[in-house]
Amino acid sequence: MRKKIVAGNWKMNKTLQDGMELAKTINRQVYDNNVIVVLCTPFIHLSDVAKVLSKDSLFLGAQNCASEASGAFTGEVSAEMIRSAGADYVIIGHSERRTYFKESDSILNKKVKLSLANNLIPIFCCGEVLAERQAGKHIQVVKDQVEKGLFDLSPEDFSRTVIAYEPVWAIGTGVNATAEQAQEMHKVIRDCIAGKYGNPIAENTSILYGGSCKPSNAKELFTNPDVDGGLIGGASLTASDFMGIVNAF
Ligand code: PEP
Repeated sequence: MRKKIVAGNWKMNKTLQDGMELAKTINRQVYDNNVIVVLCTPFIHLSDVAKVLSKDSLFLGAQNCASEASGAFTGEVSAEMIRSAGADYVIIGHSERRTYFKESDSILNKKVKLSLANNLIPIFCCGEVLAERQAGKHIQVVKDQVEKGLFDLSPEDFSRTVIAYEPVWAIGTGVNATAEQAQEMHKVIRDCIAGKYGNPIAENTSILYGGSCKPSNAKELFTNPDVDGGLIGGASLTASDFMGIVNAF
């Protein structure tokens, strides 16, 4: 059975001290059940936060990794370094990386492969901008992102990935996709995976929803058959909101 996952993306928020407080609070409040909880912190928080996460269902993640394995790439952080700091997950292809840092499908494909080679689970993000949805192109845009980012992986490698559908118009705007819009796209993604890798792998792939998810709408989103959890931005910055979403399952 596929895993239910709620991952918090802290983005560029929280000093190390504030991040540690938040991680400790969440660690106290997570009780091990059937939901995997992931805290995706800034790079410099990783190794300290790793030391305070003691629950079996609570994991650490990064928000990005370099597209090269090592070497003269000033300011970059490799997948191997992230792994060595204690992380198990890494977000790849968040829309902010695609937009502000011009990360292309081929760069993201390299990052996915480096993550997997270093035993990190990539949380691969995809999603359309508003103009693409209004033009009726959203399904094709998302399919293209998933195919270009992931579909040259072996079935074994693909089985280790997690996908996050994040409509860009819903991220940080307070306007979430409706449960119907989320379910429609998650089903499209799952069918696309089934076409490439077959039904058993598609059925086992966790597909998360991201975009203005909060305690008040999480339950409605998560009860959809193809929505397996959430990637949470703003609401991951306070323990009560984040745990409200985790407990929505
Ligand atoms: C995100 O950035 O991945 C995200 C989903 O943000 P928010 O929850 O703030 O919309």
